Amino acid sequence: MIANTPRLQKGQTVDIEVSTLAFGGKGVARMDDFVIFVTGAVPGDVVRARVTKYKRRYAEARAEVLLTPSPDRRPARCALFGGCGGCVWQNLDYGAQLRYKASQVRESLEHLGGVRDFALLPIVGMADPWRYRNRADFSIATGTEGAVIGFRPPGRWDSVIPLSECHLLPPVIEGVRATVEAWLRESGLPGWDPRSGCGFARHLLVRSAQRGKEVLVSLVTAPEDTDDAGGGGPERRPQWAGLVERLRSTHPEVVGVVHAVNAGRAELSSGLGGRTLWGRPFLFERVAGLTLKISIDAFFQTNTLMAHELYTIVARDAGLADGATESPVIWDLYSGVGSIGLSLAGRASAVLGVEAVPAAVADAEENARLNGIENAHFLEGDTARVLREVAEGHRTLPAQVSHPDVVIVDPPRAGLPKKAVSRIGELQAPRLVYVSCNPTTMAPNVAQLQDYGYRLERVTPVDMFPHTPHVECVALLTHLRGHQRV
Ligand code: SAH
Repeated sequence: MIANTPRLQKGQTVDIEVSTLAFGGKGVARMDDFVIFVTGAVPGDVVRARVTKYKRRYAEARAEVLLTPSPDRRPARCALFGGCGGCVWQNLDYGAQLRYKASQVRESLEHLGGVRDFALLPIVGMADPWRYRNRADFSIATGTEGAVIGFRPPGRWDSVIPLSECHLLPPVIEGVRATVEAWLRESGLPGWDPRSGCGFARHLLVRSAQRGKEVLVSLVTAPEDTDDAGGGGPERRPQWAGLVERLRSTHPEVVGVVHAVNAGRAELSSGLGGRTLWGRPFLFERVAGLTLKISIDAFFQTNTLMAHELYTIVARDAGLADGATESPVIWDLYSGVGSIGLSLAGRASAVLGVEAVPAAVADAEENARLNGIENAHFLEGDTARVLREVAEGHRTLPAQVSHPDVVIVDPPRAGLPKKAVSRIGELQAPRLVYVSCNPTTMAPNVAQLQDYGYRLERVTPVDMFPHTPHVECVALLTHLRGHQRV
């Protein structure tokens, strides 16, 4: 038995003060040692909340009445706040958001990594934390007036909330959304119903670059009816030229229109390739002094302004701040379109990038050429596999990049798999810079890397995603020379 377990029941209301925020953005209230996760409340609020789940160690509740508002509470800008689920911290003061994110980075490292002795540098926030996203992945359903393009409400995989404005998107992306929605409706093309597997238009991906100067549009649909003899009906035979014409005349920023087909059940908005209906299937972005070609399916940081800040921190932690005298060999693992490695190439003796998505590797190679960079090489493949092949001599590297002085890793949200950790650990590079979009997966990786002689020196959180609970950070690990694996 746990002492002091309060007697709560599902459906009951309780008056509680929210003291902090949990991962994922929910409020946390405590009754002695018992934890209640509260939705709809920010730290400092006293709320009357209804218990929605009751377990032995914790409960979940939803705030119904705000009894005393927190001094950090702010009015949400968005009319859809609470229903959309896109930016759950919009009602929390931006300075407070930054404080919570920084403390979540520290807590992850301490509690999930058991790492204590490191410097947590001040979090880098945005001066204007709105309209910062350079891409939107919309879902498409059908409402009473035809196709509806918007976002799915939290926890719902089968419906879409109509949208007119989103304060995280540049106006041109909102405009493209409205134009495509109007065209679908006028063409009698329905949205998709994932329950029945019927319908046509499934997703709309809109990406922008250079602060909205270039826009790339990809419409994902179920397969078209190509056969004239029966089947499907007119709702599956779109007049693509009409869509292109409408987009080009309404939004001169559009540089390309792509049609991608998703014939399967899985909900995907990118990674599907597709046919270019007009223009080009890539964008040119400018960041960190580079011009970067980004293909429709290649990853790029969603907040370009903060990507610049991120890369500046990576350069500093790689030992390449202004005035640095050494020219190290840099390995950029999980290199995407090459942005990090290429931004450092001018100060490095050579750069090696490793990336799994072929289109991204092709972009990275072209980006090296575009920017007149001759000392960067890119390899395609899974990081752990490529490193194993190199270690076992099945892959030969150009001599200039054979031994890294600095290894940079920037893995997806799941962090580094065990096999990648051991290969990276065995490289024994003097510096390891870990760029993470998820401190809860970075923390155990840092603990594992300690077994290979790495020590965490410092961590810098960066706010790439204001008004959401997501936090990015850059960690610098250094190698204790002479250390043997324990
Ligand atoms: N550093 C880049 C991209 C980071 S995102 C930037 O700043 O823009 C993570 C990248 O890792 C993506 O491009 C993704 O395609 C790639 N990736 C995912 N799994 C991988 C794996 N197992 N091996 C190599 N690359 C992988």
